[in-house]
Order: sequence, then structure tokens, then C-alpha cells
Amino acid sequence: MQSALESALLQLAGAVDVLGLDDGLHQLLATPRRSLQVAVPLRRDDGSLEVLQGYRVQHNLSRGPAKGGIRFHPHTDLDEVRALAMWMTWKCALIGIPYGGAKGGVAVDPHALSRNELERVTRRYASEIIPIIGPERDIPAPDVGTDEQTMAWIMDTYSMHSGYTVTGVVTGKPVSIGGSQGRAGATSRGVMYSCFSALREAGVDHREVTIAVQGFGKVGGLAAQYLHDAGCKVVAVSDVGGGIYDPGGLDPAALLKHLRSGADTVVGYPGTDAISNAQLIELDVDVLVPAALEGVIHEGNAGSVKARFVVEGANGPTTPDGDKVLEDMGVVVVPDILANSGGVAVSYFEWVQDLQAYFWSEDEVNDRLKVLMASAYADVSALAAAKGLSLRTAAQVIGVGRVAEAHRTRGLYP
Ligand code: GLU
Repeated sequence: MQSALESALLQLAGAVDVLGLDDGLHQLLATPRRSLQVAVPLRRDDGSLEVLQGYRVQHNLSRGPAKGGIRFHPHTDLDEVRALAMWMTWKCALIGIPYGGAKGGVAVDPHALSRNELERVTRRYASEIIPIIGPERDIPAPDVGTDEQTMAWIMDTYSMHSGYTVTGVVTGKPVSIGGSQGRAGATSRGVMYSCFSALREAGVDHREVTIAVQGFGKVGGLAAQYLHDAGCKVVAVSDVGGGIYDPGGLDPAALLKHLRSGADTVVGYPGTDAISNAQLIELDVDVLVPAALEGVIHEGNAGSVKARFVVEGANGPTTPDGDKVLEDMGVVVVPDILANSGGVAVSYFEWVQDLQAYFWSEDEVNDRLKVLMASAYADVSALAAAKGLSLRTAAQVIGVGRVAEAHRTRGLYP
């Protein structure tokens, strides 16, 4: 199966081809600007010492400071972080926010650590990447395995080193310390908007569709809830423990409550049938929302996907080989850099509010998000129609094209 980095590089090559960029510029865009690898020593609660690996990659800075999340996951490595950083570059360019792309990660299972251990890992990792982050340089945010609390610890660590409070160094913070209204649900809201744009274009009423969501976490959990609240029938969801299915429709809000009150998986929720994550991908539904990790739709299972729409809440859930199969079957894939861009869009709003020290209402945030996502979707769909491209290729062409143009306009130093 194609790795995240292989996938990202193949997608880039596809866009370079359509744009007709020369080999030198292709090479520049394929190469991360800075890759930092750091040791993160952790004192465990039992007194023992463990050394973890941490990363921060800034893929491109042509359009502004680097932007992208930090992932805590046992399988994170430098190549994965490079791929994720590259996708952030195209995503920010595609939705027209003035950033380059970055990503960070620590190879650790956050669920295997106590809260105190998690705080120590976060603060030590933050202090190791301090030389390259900052509100004008590189602004981290949450990703898989990290949350508002992680951002609060990073903001505090950076601020303590600076000697004053720097709210704009991270986004996705709690509202009490400079976070934005609407950030927590922003990625999920954006998934819903882009799903509805795709359905509308195909002439499908969203109140008539059935949906399966893989990954009932920060993105998938709220996406399922918003889609359900808007009238869609969410029939299956899953997490690392497995999935659940109810052809009559699930109640995502009740499921989220069930998890908040202590359950560690959706599996076993009363009145539902157990299914595996693999079965969920192949379920007979109208819309499939992969909202967990990379590479879950690939050459081996894409042919069994029955959904007519795939809306990518995760980054890189479909490999290029999987993509080809879906395209041949006529499945509409709303690509990650478009479908999940609501998160970084509201991160941008948060950063702007922090820099101005002037905060907006939740309605204002949500309204601006809706406008921004509708316009990005319209750009992608118009280019796809004009050039006979898939939505993925069209989105990549717009993102890569804008970065290439910024680079050309600035010129190569020296
Ligand atoms: N981790 C999210 C993403 O992949 C958000 C990044 C951000 O807000 O900077 O888009």
C-alpha cells in the first residue's frame, strides 16, 4: 500500500503535470523547507526515563508563516509528518489563507500516559521546537491525539520562555486563553458544508442520504452530529475499538454523551450491531466519511466501496491507487484539503483575533467559515468541470498553482 508520503508526492506530480511546472520547481515543492527531529525525554510517573521522538516539519513558507497541527500517535514518523505538512501547504493555499504548511508529531500513545506525563511530554516537546515556532513563524494546532489542553500547555510553555503571554503561537486553544468561538467544531462543520455542496451539485437532497463515518473522534464525532441534526441518516460510526451499525439511524449526540460519561469505545452501544472498521468502509451507504487516519481506502478495498460520495474528514485517507479505482467507478471524492479545511480556516480566524486582541461572536465565525468553504468548493468544482479533472486533482492544481505563483513572484534567494 502507498504510504502517506508516496501518496502526497504522487498527487503533487499530478498537479505539476497539469500546471506544466518545470522539474526544478517540482523538486522545490516536493522538498520540505525545514525538518526538525527532536528527542523528547519523559520522566514517567514511576520514576523511570523514556526517550520519545518528536518532529516538526515546515514544508513551505512562500505564502506566509507555517501552519499545521501536532499529532501524538505511536506510528508517527518523519515521513508521515512530511506528507501531512505538504498537504497543509496546499490546503492553506486552496482556501486562500496566508500560510505555508507545517506539521508536527510525537511518536507516543497519548492514551497510555497519565495526565501529568502527557503534560511533561507536551511541554518538553514544545520547548524543543521553540526555536522554529512563533506567531510570525509557525503556528501549531491540534491534530490526531492532541486537543485544546495540549495547545494550552504549548502556549504556556512558549509564553514562559518569552517572559510574556503570546496567545497567537498556537490555535485550537481553550476560549478562556484566546481561543476562538466555533474552533472546536470547525473541521466537522466544514465536512458537512463540503458534503452538502457535493450532494447539491449532484442533485441529491441531503435529507435522503445515509452516511457512515469512520473515526468517531474530534472530527468524525461532531461531523456525525451536525449531519444528523441537518436531517441526514447516520447509520454507522466507528473508532479504534471497532464500529456500530443501525440501519434505522444512530443518534450521534447520545453516543457522544455515552463516550463523555466514561465509555472508551462506541462498540457495544445498546441497540446497534457490531461491525469492523473494514466493513464500515464497504457498507452500502450513500456517503462515506473517513475521518480517522491515512490510507484506509486503497487498491485492495476501493472496489468494494458502495458509497457514491466519499467526503474526506481525515488527511490522506485515500491512496492514489484507491483514488483511481473510485474515479473509474464514478464515486465523487471530496478531497481532504477541501473537505477538512474548516479546521485550519477557523484556526486562521483565531490567529487574526489573537493578533488584534479583538474577539468575534460564534455566529460571525460560523458565517465566515461558510462563505470561505463555499467559495473554495466553487473554485474546485469550476476547475474540475472546465478541465475534466477529479475534484482531488482540481484542488491540488489550485493549491500547488498558488504556491508556485507566490514562489515565482518572490524569486529565488539569493
Ligand atoms: N490538524 C488540522 C488539519 O489537519 C488543523 C490544522 C490547523 O488548524 O493549523 O487541518
